[in-house]
Amino acid sequence: MANSIVLPKIMQVGGGALALLPDTLDALKCKSACIISDKTMLQLGLVDKVKALLTPYSVNVGVFSDVMPEPNDTSLKAAVELVRAGKFDCLVALGGGSAIDSAKAIALLVSHQGEMRDYKVPRIITEHSIPVIAIPTTAGTGSEATKVTVITDSLSDEKMLCMGPGLMPAAAIIDYQLTLSLPPRVAADTGLDALTHAIEAYVSRKANLFSDQQAIAAMKLIAPNLQSACLEADNLKAKEAMMMGASLAGIAFSNASVALVHGMSRPLGVHFHVPHGMSNAMLLPLITEYSIPHAPERYAQCAMHMGLVNNLDNLSSAHEALIRELKRLNQTLDVPSLSAFGIEQKRYHSLLETMAEQALASGSPANNPRVPSIPDMVALYQSAWT
Ligand code: NAD
Repeated sequence: MANSIVLPKIMQVGGGALALLPDTLDALKCKSACIISDKTMLQLGLVDKVKALLTPYSVNVGVFSDVMPEPNDTSLKAAVELVRAGKFDCLVALGGGSAIDSAKAIALLVSHQGEMRDYKVPRIITEHSIPVIAIPTTAGTGSEATKVTVITDSLSDEKMLCMGPGLMPAAAIIDYQLTLSLPPRVAADTGLDALTHAIEAYVSRKANLFSDQQAIAAMKLIAPNLQSACLEADNLKAKEAMMMGASLAGIAFSNASVALVHGMSRPLGVHFHVPHGMSNAMLLPLITEYSIPHAPERYAQCAMHMGLVNNLDNLSSAHEALIRELKRLNQTLDVPSLSAFGIEQKRYHSLLETMAEQALASGSPANNPRVPSIPDMVALYQSAWT
């Protein structure tokens, strides 16, 4: 079967790659950029740094620094107006997945009609929009190299998955030095998100030979470096490996899809404001255990690519090693249980059906090796409660 692979046109990769931003704009023939970022980036001085890089080369530089964490559709409106009024010809997304996803959605809404809910899956976004140059500052979502944006519908509280080649950033500037300021909590949540992308892309029903290579490389980079990158402030090698691993994991899942962990994790973000990577991590060991019987070899291979076993002579041992490591990482990186996060048990249980329906609507559970029914997902949410 043939697969259409979509990637950014330009990828500037490595320590110091940020300095190549003007060249990147030049290569894309862009003259006036609006930076899309958030308050943290502003406070860290990164917005000013990017503005200073752009100013000599751009006719006009704008700044929107009100990106909302895990953005909803209403948070985009002011930016859409700003970009339209300033007639900017490209967006420079600076930040984590929230800034990059916002920029992708803003570019789409500036260039075309409608609301974000008109574009959610199963619609495929093929429309061309003004170019987005994505500069990730977390080693996590891989959004800089995915044809995906995730925007919450403020009316229904659904975390909408929007997908299609029209959402792929024109360029990605992947510079691990921008992650050095990450607090350990954010580094852990975003790093666990990247690990989840790599595993889910590898076991996805839509996995293919191309996505497998990216997923394997991502697991090899992420698994041995995640803990050090989060807990050892000066371990630059680990941080560099995490950044590369996160982008490769993004390429892997963008071309193979995520699966049940992401499907069930998004409603936890919407209803209880659990950060995206943390809610993935809370579910990853449980859903991996649930799914292993339907793809035993693939999951054993994950254990091998993560360096947990040397061979596949004994699949059960490999599965045990994988589950043990996922639980150990959660413990070492202080991923809380749902109750320790502060979720109220009664409210959680009142939302089980709704969350299962929202998970199903996203389409992601259908990519899982073991495709669950609504009652299966309700039971999984019940088991996840500790
Ligand atoms: P985020 O962008 O929300 O950032 C988390 C926090 O970390 C923010 O306060 C941010 O300001 C701060 N931060 C970011 N970089 C920093 C740095 N270098 N130093 C200090 N602080 C920094 O988190 P995220 O996990 O990167 O993105 C989450 C969003 O991405 C969610 O909405 C999720 O649904 C989405 N997502 C998108 C894709 C995709 O392919 N489009 C994939 C996975 C997740």
